[in-house]
Amino acid sequence: MDRYEYIGHLHIHSNYSDGSGSIREIVQAGRETGLDFIGITDHNTLGARRDGYEGWQDGILVLIGQELGYKKNHYIAFGTDREISVEDENPQQTINAVNAQGGFGYLAHPGEKSNPAFLEGTYYPWDRWDYKGFCGLEIWNFSSLWKETFHSRLAVLFWYCFDRYRAAAVPGAEVIEKWDQLAAERPVVAFGGTDAHAYLVNLGIIKLSFFAYKFLFRTINTHLLLDRELSRQSAVALEQVLGALRRGAFFIGSDYFFPSKGFRFAAFRDGKKVAGMGGEIDCSPPVVLCVSSPPGCRGLVRIIADGQPVLESRERDIAFEACRPGVYRAEVYWRPLQGRPIPWIYSNPIYIKD
Ligand SMILES: [Zn+2]
Ligand SMILES: [Zn+2]
Repeated sequence: MDRYEYIGHLHIHSNYSDGSGSIREIVQAGRETGLDFIGITDHNTLGARRDGYEGWQDGILVLIGQELGYKKNHYIAFGTDREISVEDENPQQTINAVNAQGGFGYLAHPGEKSNPAFLEGTYYPWDRWDYKGFCGLEIWNFSSLWKETFHSRLAVLFWYCFDRYRAAAVPGAEVIEKWDQLAAERPVVAFGGTDAHAYLVNLGIIKLSFFAYKFLFRTINTHLLLDRELSRQSAVALEQVLGALRRGAFFIGSDYFFPSKGFRFAAFRDGKKVAGMGGEIDCSPPVVLCVSSPPGCRGLVRIIADGQPVLESRERDIAFEACRPGVYRAEVYWRPLQGRPIPWIYSNPIYIKD
């Protein structure tokens, strides 16, 4: 397990809905930023799939999912082969329809908040937490964080020009808390993305791309860990990636300050690996949870059990004996030379059962 790491970017909009780029342009941006796969999730359409864009395209594996919903309760679905009729007031029906097609999905930007200074306050929240059958949720969404952080247009423009990562650097604590609560009941996968649209701003003679794909693809990425190399056959490779996304065999890493490639989190017993991220394992005999931070980093590692930190360390490689059942996950913070540690990596959990 974990022999192969593949870096991808999920939650991308193309010109099949309200993104500005064609699939070819997005693939090109992915190539230039060193991605292995991308997940296109246009609003309520699988048009790109019907037009033959799913699978290997110029060395990048393209997944075509869809983001279902209109004014609220957006749901990112993968593994579906037909469009789904959606009612915003009934997301349970959407979740069930995705599952009935053999697909799976995540709640999109569930913690999004309104901000009158950004897009006239338009926002797309998730309105209830008692829906069932979803695979996971988006804990880190670049665009949502931008929407809610700055409270004047001048501040938006200033920070866009001088530090466009700043607003998105710290995911909302409420959503992460919600994730921990949900994962206490059943496995819940967390993913992150940017909700990339690369909005075009028309300035007369020139058009500017606001948050270009290439910029965003260097930020909140999905790092999949697979035991086999990705197949060169599109259908097989898609199954490999979708399987890992469904079971949470990946971590979310922001590659903005320093590449998160090389991070590992796994459970060992008698020196042998018994579970990776998304895996379940019995509590007895105890397992040792090992975290390896990316080489060359200045990191701060936390192991979280059932939502509470149980270990914090500046060591690159740490081991923690897990003697009781619980949902264990790891967070790594990037330590700049000055200032506070910045969120860098969120692992998916390992579930230790009674
Ligand atoms: Zn959305
Ligand atoms: Zn979106």
